[in-house]
Amino acid sequence: MRKARAALPAEHRRLLDEIGAQETVVADWPQGVLNLYLTLRERPPSPVQLERAAAAWLEARRTVAFNLAFFTTIVEGLDDRAREQVVAHVAWHEYGHALSVTRSTWHQRREGPRLHALLPPDLRDAIDFPGLYRRDQLFDEVIATIYPVMVERVRNGDYRAAEFLHPEVRRAFEEMIPWPPSRPTDQT
Ligand SMILES: [Zn+2]
Repeated sequence: MRKARAALPAEHRRLLDEIGAQETVVADWPQGVLNLYLTLRERPPSPVQLERAAAAWLEARRTVAFNLAFFTTIVEGLDDRAREQVVAHVAWHEYGHALSVTRSTWHQRREGPRLHALLPPDLRDAIDFPGLYRRDQLFDEVIATIYPVMVERVRNGDYRAAEFLHPEVRRAFEEMIPWPPSRPTDQT
């Protein structure tokens, strides 16, 4: 997880540092993370949603809680590289949540369902709505679903804007997450 965070563009790492984002690994999922929500007096996601989650962003504690059992299961049989890739994608998704939750306005979040409908089919289908997610969760879910795709691109040296997104979705994404980030060589 530390590696996944270190792999993010510098601007985004700075934003996460400003937010004070931290990580924790929860062994007894979902009870362990449910307990965290209860101590924080924060409204937990639905039991089904939590059960299936690889990780969750705890806003009040500014912490990404990772589901240890989930990772142990999905990385079984994968080689080190593939394993790292899977973990990184989940981590980037959660950092996308962190940036979206903390930087969005009520007004922007209201657009979630509309933006979700404008996503390319593969990304739209990756978000189980209607079904798993509530309407008020869609905005963050849209941003968090796009983010790992874009991080993967810059890791491959592609710093273009997200031309595959509808202009309104792209604008929402760029309002949450400064894009494109500067290349490592641009930094002073
Ligand atoms: Zn999510």
